Formats: sequence, structure tokens, C-alpha cells
Amino acid sequence: MKKVDLHSHTTQSDGSLTPEELIERAVLNQVEILSITDHDTVAAYGELSEVDLGGLTLIPGIELSSQWRGVNVHIVGLKLNLTEPGLMAAVSSQQAARSERATLITQRLIKAGIPIDADRVLQIANMSNIGRPHFAQHMVELGVTKNMNTAFKKYLGNGKIGDVKQCWPDMPDVVEWIRVAGGVPVLAHPLKYTMTRTKLRALVDEFVEAGGQALEVVSGQQTTDENNYLARLCREKTLLASCGSDFHQPSQWSDIGKMAPFPKDCETVWLNW
Ligand code: AMP
Ligand code: MN
Ligand code: MN
Ligand code: MN
Repeated sequence: MKKVDLHSHTTQSDGSLTPEELIERAVLNQVEILSITDHDTVAAYGELSEVDLGGLTLIPGIELSSQWRGVNVHIVGLKLNLTEPGLMAAVSSQQAARSERATLITQRLIKAGIPIDADRVLQIANMSNIGRPHFAQHMVELGVTKNMNTAFKKYLGNGKIGDVKQCWPDMPDVVEWIRVAGGVPVLAHPLKYTMTRTKLRALVDEFVEAGGQALEVVSGQQTTDENNYLARLCREKTLLASCGSDFHQPSQWSDIGKMAPFPKDCETVWLNW
């Protein structure tokens, strides 16, 4: 089976490698099919037109933020037509939502007594596309928490004071944007939403109803049991199966191209690519 990684991040969102450095690392790790799926932006692709990909197949992608029943849900879009006007409009509205959200997060954290410097957060985010990890990094440098994980546990994670999701569009709208851009909508890391399995099944059903086509069956740090559970869910709902490391930086979570083996009997999303 080919070595495939369809979920990764660069400095254009909250990753630590530039798009070019990410490609180099993917090639080094013998990835054959790669997608860069930065949060709410496709800017990485604009930086790669001159880069030699060698034998690597690069699939245009994105990870879009959405909300569903009060949960911040991520939808990966793969094999997008990057010049589709609807996609460009969607990306710019997501960017506006992100900066509005950053202001709300700042206000909430300040109210909680944490002296956030909004300009510093923007600087940490390379001047655009602010995400919660940039707040977490700032909180660590302020000495508010000892590391980013604690910042998420106490202030930024699911349901915490800095978890602002009302700015995001509804999940079905995001699925539709991807379809309009000719892409395949993939429900990202389904086990990361701290929801019951009953609620997850309801999410998958509504995702399919909205036009969703694939489930991220293998994701970065999942156990074999988790992979097998998602493979069963995927087959039951007759969805395509995707896999991605959700790589952000070399020293954190999973490396690019490093994932558990793919479960048998799932139809892969990349079959005809
Ligand atoms: P946002 O895009 O602003 O909603 O932030 C979500 C991102 O935060 C995820 O894509 C992860 O990269 C990051 N994240 C989530 N949980 C943690 C954690 N415990 N420690 C560090 N980063 C995290
Ligand atoms: Mn991220
Ligand atoms: Mn995600
Ligand atoms: Mn991701």
C-alpha cells in the first residue's frame, strides 16, 4: 500500500515548518501522496509553485473550522480546485471569522485576569490566521501556564473559557463549500470531539446528509482499537476512508507520514488519485 498522509500543517496555520520544509520532510519520510491542510487557508499552495516535488503527489487541501451542536468540528477538504471563486470567498470569510474570534478570545482571557497582549499573539501567528495554539504559546511565555498542553487544559480546550466557536459556520455549509470547489469532504479526527459515540454517529449521519464523503479513519496518535472502531463506522456508513498524521511540528504528536497501518476492508479516498 502507498504511503499516504492527507492531513498536515505549515507555518501558514499553526505548524512550525514552512510549506517547502514540510515537503522536504515528507519526501525524507517517503510519503508518496501528501496533502497540506492548513486551518482555514490554502496559502501554502501559493508558496509551492516553484518547488520541485520529485515523485511526490501533492493533493490540494484545507482543514475548515465549523460548528455542529455546539462542538467545534473540523472538516478536511481534499483535491480542491484552488481557483474556484466560491472557495476563495469561503477562505476569506473564515479568515474574518478567525480574527473576530481572536478578539473575543483575548477579551475573555483578559477578563479572567490573564494579561494577553493581542499584538504579541498576532506576531506569534506570523501576522495572520491566529489560532488557539498561538494564544497557548503566549500564555507559556507570560508564565501563566508551564506548557501549551496545560494552557489548553485550563483555558483553551473544549468547553473552556477561551474555546470560542460561535464565529464558525455550520458544518453542512462547510461541506457544501468543499463540494462546490470540486473537493472531497472528510470528517477530520472523529474521536477528538469529546462526544459520546451516539452523538458521533449523529454527527456522521448529518455529515453524510450534507454531502460528506469520507472519514479520517487513521489519524496521528490513535490506538489500533480506535482505528478499528472508525474503520467499522466507515464501512457501516459506506464512506471512503482517509488517513493523516495531523502533523504540526517534528517534536509534537505524530511525524509526517508516520501512522498506524491502514485497517483492511475500507475503500480509500485516494484509490483513483
Ligand atoms: P484553533 O484552530 O484555533 O481552533 O485551534 C485548534 C488547534 O489547537 C488544533 O488544530 C491543534 O493544533 C491545537 N491543539 C489542540 N489541543 C492542543 C493541546 N492540548 N496542546 C497544544 N495544541 C493543541
Ligand atoms: Mn492545529
Ligand atoms: Mn483539527
Ligand atoms: Mn489538523
